[in-house]
Amino acid sequence: MLAVLWQDLLSDISLLVDSATFETWFRPLQPKELREDGILVIAASSQFAVDFLEQHYKEKLLSLARNRLPTLREVLILATDESQRPTPLASPRSFSIHAVPKAVVPPTTFNQNFTFDTFVVGPGNEFAKSAALAVAKAPGKTKFNPLLIYGGVGLGKTHLLQAVGLFLASQQKALRIAYASSEEFYLNFIDAIKNNSSRKFSDSFKSADILLIDDIQFLSGKESTQEEFFYIFNTLYQNQRQIVLTSDLPPGSLKGLQDRLISRFQWGLCVDIQPPNLETRVAILKRKAEQDNLNIPEPILLYIAETVSSNIRELEGIIIRLLAYSSITKRDITIDLVKSILKGTQKNEKPRFSIEQIIETVADYYKVPLNNIREKNRRKEVAFCRQLAMYIVKSFTNYSLKSIGLHFGGRDHSTVIHAIQHIEFLRKNERSVASDIENIISLLSNQQHA
Ligand code: ADP
Ligand code: MG
Repeated sequence: MLAVLWQDLLSDISLLVDSATFETWFRPLQPKELREDGILVIAASSQFAVDFLEQHYKEKLLSLARNRLPTLREVLILATDESQRPTPLASPRSFSIHAVPKAVVPPTTFNQNFTFDTFVVGPGNEFAKSAALAVAKAPGKTKFNPLLIYGGVGLGKTHLLQAVGLFLASQQKALRIAYASSEEFYLNFIDAIKNNSSRKFSDSFKSADILLIDDIQFLSGKESTQEEFFYIFNTLYQNQRQIVLTSDLPPGSLKGLQDRLISRFQWGLCVDIQPPNLETRVAILKRKAEQDNLNIPEPILLYIAETVSSNIRELEGIIIRLLAYSSITKRDITIDLVKSILKGTQKNEKPRFSIEQIIETVADYYKVPLNNIREKNRRKEVAFCRQLAMYIVKSFTNYSLKSIGLHFGGRDHSTVIHAIQHIEFLRKNERSVASDIENIISLLSNQQHA
């Protein structure tokens, strides 16, 4: 029973957290006991892990466990030595840190395709590219320090960040380039604390000539990591080292990041990347097709570019499918083939609405002021609208739980999970909620086609 429950729980969790988090924090856990009074006891290998899980995942674990076993009352996470004790609730917390498995952080290398040369420029991204190139040519010497590039998913932020790194690496071999996603930064930092090597961690970053950090929105809510980042930032900045950052939100909207960090980001230059217009999409498709030696007639390129407009990663996806088709069948690429490929993707693909559009439509539908949905308003009907808006955002966009939380007043992702589960429950059990959702989705689709 316990083993089965645990396996189920683990598989639920693995769907909700990224794989590094899963391997680091959840895989090492041991189920210990399912008590008659409805308490599930889990052992973690250190007090540090216990504290981390309690702080970030306690509610989520409990709600997932309750989904599997409704009679469950509580999930107790204990450090291994403690879990043996008869009255764990009363036992004092020990702060000794035991050896735990090393955090699984994938080694980061640059993608060799992410160069300035392969980056196609259009009105939405040319400023960002020029700024990145200027910085790569004279790191630390321009006014663009730090350089913060922000914009939606799949629009080329990581590409530009790595282009800076690749450019510098090719020009000046001796440069020390520190590159990490915020998530890696965070996981490595946590790992360093566990291993008593946070000094080493911080020195390694402070001695860098260039600091490149991707997706800083991920640091939101992670106070001690931000603290560490703040000191690293200051040291490098004072030594006129170049710092380049990316974010999926403009600095002003980065909820959960300390104000002093946000204000430092604004010392330099913040540039955004906008979705590509039609010409740029065609140019990108052409470039990708050339790279892959794929011969696609002009009208077909135009057709694809007109049909797929949301982001560049998707355009690449179409090229990859065409490439697969043509290498297998050795036939030419025709408009009918493209149509069938696009239809295939669109059938599985949900229509895309913007997060703003969704919030506005839900607010309008329930006649609730827009700002109440975005902010921390606890009135019951507002909370319901907000949860429903989160549910629709999750269903119709690619935003992560984390970033959905950020768009709704800086809520953490366990709140978002709870909201989604709650609405899913209501949708199945209350006819009025199900029909509200249908109505809202059709309102959204109508806007799309208007
Ligand atoms: P983001 O980090 O903004 O989510 P990425 O940088 O990962 O997006 O870009 C997604 C994909 O689209 C990558 O394969 C990237 O090479 C490609 N891409 C994005 N912008 C451009 C561009 N302007 N020219 C060519 N390829 C691009
Ligand atoms: Mg990216």
